Order: sequence, then structure tokens, then C-alpha cells
Amino acid sequence: MTAVHTPVGGPQLEQVRRIVTEVPGPRSRELAARRSAALPAGLTSGANIYTAAAGGGVLVDVDGNSFIDFGSGIAVTTVGNAAPRVVERASRQLAKYTHTCFLATPYEPYIEVAEALNRLTPGDHEKRTALFNTGSEAVENAVKYARAATGRPAVVTFDHAFHGRTLMTMTMTAKNQPYKSTFGPFAPEVYRAPMAYPYRWPSGAENAADEAFAQFEMLVDSQIGADAVACVVVEPIQGEGGFIVPADGFLRRIADFCRDRGILFIADEVQAGIARTGNWFASEHEGIVPDLIVTAKGLAGGMPLAAVTGRADIMDTAHAGGIGGTYSGNPAACEAALGVFDTIEEENLLARAQAIGDLMFRELRDIAAHTDIIGDVRGRGAMVAIELVQPGTKTPNREAVAEINRFCLAHGLLTLTAGTFGNVLRFLPPLSISDELLMEGFSVLREAFAAL
Ligand SMILES: *Cc1c(COP(=O)(O)O)cnc(C)c1O
Repeated sequence: MTAVHTPVGGPQLEQVRRIVTEVPGPRSRELAARRSAALPAGLTSGANIYTAAAGGGVLVDVDGNSFIDFGSGIAVTTVGNAAPRVVERASRQLAKYTHTCFLATPYEPYIEVAEALNRLTPGDHEKRTALFNTGSEAVENAVKYARAATGRPAVVTFDHAFHGRTLMTMTMTAKNQPYKSTFGPFAPEVYRAPMAYPYRWPSGAENAADEAFAQFEMLVDSQIGADAVACVVVEPIQGEGGFIVPADGFLRRIADFCRDRGILFIADEVQAGIARTGNWFASEHEGIVPDLIVTAKGLAGGMPLAAVTGRADIMDTAHAGGIGGTYSGNPAACEAALGVFDTIEEENLLARAQAIGDLMFRELRDIAAHTDIIGDVRGRGAMVAIELVQPGTKTPNREAVAEINRFCLAHGLLTLTAGTFGNVLRFLPPLSISDELLMEGFSVLREAFAAL
């Protein structure tokens, strides 16, 4: 057998920013050509560089360029890419058995993940957890549990929401382009309330919580009828919508309102959950105990795994055989999740997320003080964004976001965009990144603003 050279990822990867070819380099361009002949045109990627290895705070491409990672594969590799405990546990599991189908022949790692999520999620009531593969699938199933438990049809979601790309979750998602356009008709009984978006609330941030809540209350009580509403589904920090942190008190009032009317409060923590914001769950920042909580992205360090965790009396209502899936709760993905939980606890990553967030806020506020196109700096923990506007206005500046994103890529920094208006840059570094790389990343960002 001939030895195949495979680059090793994880934290042992050299932690440097280094661009050695033009970006994208020749090997990435070669793959791009093959891709365009083999993949549908609409399946696009944010960066046109192809991955060879990743870990710590960097991603190395097939041309040998090393990029600082400010995206974590969209909030997935929170504990770091190819994190040692994740790789070790998942590999050991793969060598034992890759699959049995939990619905056919069950196994222990699934139960261990459920026990951990029941313990870690807010509230000390009795809980149950069911596992799925993707965030969308888990949100769909949370709605199924809510409908089965309440016997009610309606689902209330919010402006700027993102809940996924399946029929139900695409319907629940707010933004037409690119998520919904041409893909209708949509699922029935999905309603939308305003989000208390402080920066863009028409009468000012100080009125956002009160006025948005009043409109929500009117929608539910006067238009849908509270006794027809199964659940309210909300991201405690909106992700794709642009890292919108709802005005203080808004979510608490929604949760209280739901409890009064027998409506289930479902937190979609797919992006904000699992240590990203400096707590295990973003709901904790507001002291909220959701009836059901949905997790995915950061849950298994990159392996496909998602979960619905919630009140035992709700989760136990759905009938035998009604919920599940062939691959749901794959054993290697479960072991990866257990590796994620160990890493967060043993490396004290809740505190690390907060420290990274403090550094990012400091740097971004300083950059904002030297430009007139940053309208807002917001987020919690290691989930921070800036919203770009035309100077002296709140008019979205999506062109500047695109230009900065391009500049950063060319100079060895991976960044992600977001926002209903495409004018948000979001920063989601892996919690395994060093302060040195973080600071270097922000120096690239400074240059990007200076070059505009
Ligand atoms: C990404 C995301 C989803 C969808 O998850 P997929 O794994 O892509 O299906 C749902 N909700 C939120 C808040 C997300 O960020």
C-alpha cells in the first residue's frame, strides 16, 4: 500500500495567517471548475477556497493558504475544528459500529446525549430529549410535539427569523430571497409577529420591547385566537437575521404571555446555543425557561446532530412511532456531542466565549469610532456582529459588507455575512482561537475598512 499524505487538522495545525498564492489559488480554481460541471449552479459557497485542514483558529486551503477562521463553519465548530475529544470519541465509535438505527436496535451514546442535554438546558423540571440530524429537522419536530401536546394548529414566528430550509421551516423563515423565492406554496397556519429589533425599531430602541409586545399580543389574542396557537418559536438571538438581540424584557414577556394561555414557548437555539454566547444557552441571559429548546449547529462539533429537549409532559404526548428517523442520533455523532460537552466543561469554554466576546466588542467599537458606516455593534459572548449603513443614515450598506468580506478573504481572514438586508458582518470564531489570532484578524478588518 502506498502512503497517502493527509494534512492533520485540529489544534496542532500551525496557528498562522499565511497567504502563499493568489486567492483562490490554482488547486481551488481547478476544483471550482469541476464543481461547476458537477453541482447545480444555485448551490453556492461564501468563499471560493477549498479546505485541506482546519483547527484551533485557522483553516488551511488546498493551495496551502492559512486563513484565520471567524466563522466556525457557521457556528458549528464552536469547540474548534477536529477538536481532539470530538475526533477521539467519534473515531472510536466508528470503529465499533457506524449505525444500527436507534428505531431498530438502540445504543447507549444516544441516551448519554439526552441525559446531558436534560441536565444542561434551563430549568430543573423533568425533561426528555429526542435527537435528529439537522436544525431544520429538529425545529419541524418541535412543532410536531407542540401540536400533538396542545391539539392546536397555529405557529407564531417573528420578523427576521431563520428556522431552516424544509417546507415547514422555510415557511417559518422570514426572508424571501434566497430562502423562499419560487419554492412555495408554503405550509399553512404559520403567523409572523414583529421582532423587537432595537436598532431598527421605528419609534426608537427604548420603545421596541413594549410596542413589539403589544403587536404580538394583538396578533395572538385578536387575530389568530390564543386557543388556536400551539407554539411561539423564537431565536433568543436571531442568527441569519443579523445577530439581533431582542430588546431587553421582550422575550420574558412573550414567555409569560405564552404560559398564561397554554401556548408552548420554543427557543430555537440552533445558532446561539451550546456555549456560543458565554452561557450554555442564550435563553439563560434573560432568565427564560423554554418549554422546548432546539439545538443543532454547535452540538456535535461538525457531525450532523440536532435535538429537541423539553418538558417531559409535552414530549411524552406524541404517540409511539410518530417521531424519529433512519439516521437520527447517529452513534458517532452522539459520541462527538459527548466530546463537545467534555471540551466545554474541561476547557472552561463558557468563560472563554465571554472573554472572546469582550475582546471582539472592544475591537469593533474602536473600529466603529473611526468610520461612519458602522451603525450598530451587537451580540452576546462570542456571537457578535456589526451592521453597516450609508454614512449618517440607517440605509443598509450591503455593498460595503460584500467589499469587506472580499478584502478579508484575500488577506487571510474568513468572515460571514448575515442580515435581512445583507448588510451585517457576523463574527463567530471557534472558542479554540488564540487572542493573538483574534487580534490579527481584527487588524485585517481595520485594513479592510481603511481600504473602502
Ligand atoms: C442554521 C439554523 C437552522 C437550520 O439548521 P440546518 O442544520 O441548516 O437545517 C435553524 N434555526 C437556526 C436559528 C439556525 O441558525
